[in-house]
Order: sequence, then structure tokens, then C-alpha cells
Amino acid sequence: MMNKYDYLIVGAGLYGSLFAYKAKKVEKKVLMIDKRSHIGGNLYCENIEGINVHKYGPHIFHTSNKDVWDFMNSIIPFNHFRYEPLASYKGDLYNLPFNMNTFHQLWNVNTPDEAKSIINAQRKEFEGKEQSVLSAIHRLAEPDSIDLEADLALVAVVGRGMKSTRGTAGRIFSALAHANVNVRMIDQGSSELNVIIGVSNDDFDRAIKAIYDIFVETRL
Ligand SMILES: Cc1cc2nc3c(=O)[nH]c(=O)nc-3n(C[C@H](O)[C@H](O)[C@H](O)COP(=O)(O)OP(=O)(O)OC[C@H]3O[C@@H](n4cnc5c(N)ncnc54)[C@H](O)[C@@H]3O)c2cc1C
Repeated sequence: MMNKYDYLIVGAGLYGSLFAYKAKKVEKKVLMIDKRSHIGGNLYCENIEGINVHKYGPHIFHTSNKDVWDFMNSIIPFNHFRYEPLASYKGDLYNLPFNMNTFHQLWNVNTPDEAKSIINAQRKEFEGKEQSVLSAIHRLAEPDSIDLEADLALVAVVGRGMKSTRGTAGRIFSALAHANVNVRMIDQGSSELNVIIGVSNDDFDRAIKAIYDIFVETRL
């Protein structure tokens, strides 16, 4: 006799799995299928030598909504989590995001201009290798598409108080808008210790000055 299902769920990722969980709670019969050999979708962890490795890129759960937090904890408890990204370069480890200190450790330089000239030399080395980098990303992360942005300067605004201070992001972006700087990319670390902003190389100095002014000079 054929099984009868109330729902067929295609994709055992976060959405499909939670839908199945809630449907089961109200006694619905669910068939869930996935083209991958595992459940969990992009959140899946592969156990490699006893370490849970996020196969499709690191995933961090953060919410300020107590209902969402309580709901997730009613399904599974969370581990304590600390986000301390490091970069490995020629066998040594460096804290991220990079600053002048890092460039001094990496290349023994003392000024932004010295760091810039090394970065420019490295950029030239990268030219022509784009395709092999892109195909490695496609192979490892299987994204739907990748867009390559050139001419992007990254500015990291870092501070321990940012997590609990309202309006920090608003101040950063208002200051940039007033300085006529277009923001081309935003990345907020899940630790909420930093906001990284991508601006055109030409806008870099203006962006630094605007952010410095709003936090250090004006102290608004
Ligand atoms: C690198 C990376 C980092 C991320 N970091 C975070 C983070 O830190 N915090 C956060 O909240 N979110 C993060 N996200 C986003 C998060 O992964 C997604 O929001 C979440 O996985 C979406 O869940 P989903 O169920 O909709 O899709 P998915 O997790 O993508 O699951 C979809 C499932 O459907 C399956 N499927 C697709 N098509 C078919 C088909 N035709 N037949 C059968 N099965 C199929 C796939 O194999 C997959 O298992 C990140 C995403 C990426 C890629």
C-alpha cells in the first residue's frame, strides 16, 4: 500500500526541516527529499577528525528576537560561540580585520603608503589568476553566481562597545553620505565588534576622514 503524505518537501535545508518539524508537531505526514546526501542544507556540518566543519561556509546564528531564540533553543541547545577570525599567511596566524599593525607584522612596513605599494604589487600578481580563483570558489562553495568587484577599498570600523550602542551603524553611514561617499559593500561581523564597508579606492581617504570625524572629532 502506498504511503500517503500531507506534504512533499523538496530540500532538507533550514526552511524545509523547520517546516517538516512544525508539520509533524500537528500530526501531518511529511516526505522530505534532497538532492544532497545529507540533511541541513547549507548549514550542514561535516565531522572531520572530530571537528564539526561547516561544509558550505561558516554559519552563525544570531538574533535579537527572544521568541526566535526560545523557539530554536526548544529544538536544540546552542554551544557557546566566539568569533575570532584569523588569517594564515606563510605559516603564521594574524588577527582579522587587518590594520597597520598587521601590515607591520606581515611586511615590516610602518606607513599606509608602504602598505599600499605592496598591496598594489600583489594585485598585479593576482591579475591573470582570477579564473583559477573563481573556479576554486565554485568548486568549494557551489554558489549560484559570483561577481568580481575591482577597485574596492575596505574600511573596518572596530570597537568593543558597538554591540550595545544604538545608532553606531547610522552614524557611520550618515557620515559617509554627508562626505558624498558611495557605499558599495557592507559586512557586519556576527561578533558585532566590527562593520566592514567597501568603497571605491578613490573614496578611501574621504571615507576614513568622515568616520574619524564623526566618532573622534565630533563625538556625536
Ligand atoms: C557561505 C554562507 C554563509 C552563510 N552564513 C549565514 C549565517 O552565518 N547566518 C545565517 O543566518 N545565514 C547564513 N547563510 C544563509 C543560510 O545558509 C540560508 O539562509 C539558509 O541555509 C537557507 O535555508 P534554506 O532551507 O532556504 O536553503 P538551503 O540551506 O540552501 O537548503 C536547500 C536544500 O534544498 C536542496 N535542493 C535544492 N534544489 C533541490 C532539488 N531540485 N531537488 C532536491 N533538493 C534540492 C539543496 O540540496 C539543499 O539541501 C549563509 C549562506 C552561505 C552560502
